[in-house]
Amino acid sequence: MSTKIAQMAGLKLIEGYSSSSDDDDDDVSRPETVDKKINLNSLPLPKFAPVGTGVEHYETIVDNPEEHDGRVRSFKHERGNWATLVYADYKPSEALQSWMTSVNTIIPAGTLILNDSHLSFSRTLILKYHWIESFVESLRDLTRSTPKFNLQITNVKIYCNEGRTRTFLGLECQCLDQTVTHYMTSLNKLLSEYQLPPFYEDASYHISFLWLLGDKEEDLKKLIPTLNESLFDILSKHFENSYINIEHIHCKVGNKLYKWPLR
Ligand code: AMP
Repeated sequence: MSTKIAQMAGLKLIEGYSSSSDDDDDDVSRPETVDKKINLNSLPLPKFAPVGTGVEHYETIVDNPEEHDGRVRSFKHERGNWATLVYADYKPSEALQSWMTSVNTIIPAGTLILNDSHLSFSRTLILKYHWIESFVESLRDLTRSTPKFNLQITNVKIYCNEGRTRTFLGLECQCLDQTVTHYMTSLNKLLSEYQLPPFYEDASYHISFLWLLGDKEEDLKKLIPTLNESLFDILSKHFENSYINIEHIHCKVGNKLYKWPLR
């Protein structure tokens, strides 16, 4: 296989999230499934190499939005830059999944996000290769010393990515105690040590379940009261679905995935 073809295959492989590992330790697993519907602006990177063995060299790939559902990268490909995200996995219940599907019938232009639902605890960060090992170690230690925490789904909210090239509908969640706040304070401090931006100052924890290309905030705004009404109806019938118990934190770095248990 030519280098270029191998790189493109790598791009397809690392698009999207996966959390195939269920182990409780500082597991590492590579995404095995590709769901083109939900994607970070991932970088086409070679397989992770242990620090010391070096990273394979590769050509810069010219971004072609047609190759990833029209989504536009929010940062340039650069050798040695690894797309990184800290998040928790979330699996919507059947009741919520069918509600999300019903929202999709109201907004057919949207793409549903069901298999890779998650709650982000960082922006999509760009980590330098030589910082990965110590960053991951510090994040692991922070995670392992943080108690498990709960969130409650409160309402539907519209989110746009930073370049406003994509719009998301998400289930906004409220923190039920101070654990998330403490975790985020420590995480933001850690990020600053690596010259990485903190999470949003007005952080709004959420589970994105549908996305559209472009800035569709104005179009979607008028639907929010109806969507909230139907969400509250579902949650009143399935009250337990309102609560989300976070027991693990994931960190995706390039095509490598880490999963650690909270204390
Ligand atoms: P996510 O589902 O975590 O990928 O988030 C969807 C989008 O929401 C991301 O592109 C974020 O940049 C965006 N977003 C906008 N405002 C906020 C906020 N206040 N808190 C969290 N995410 C936000």
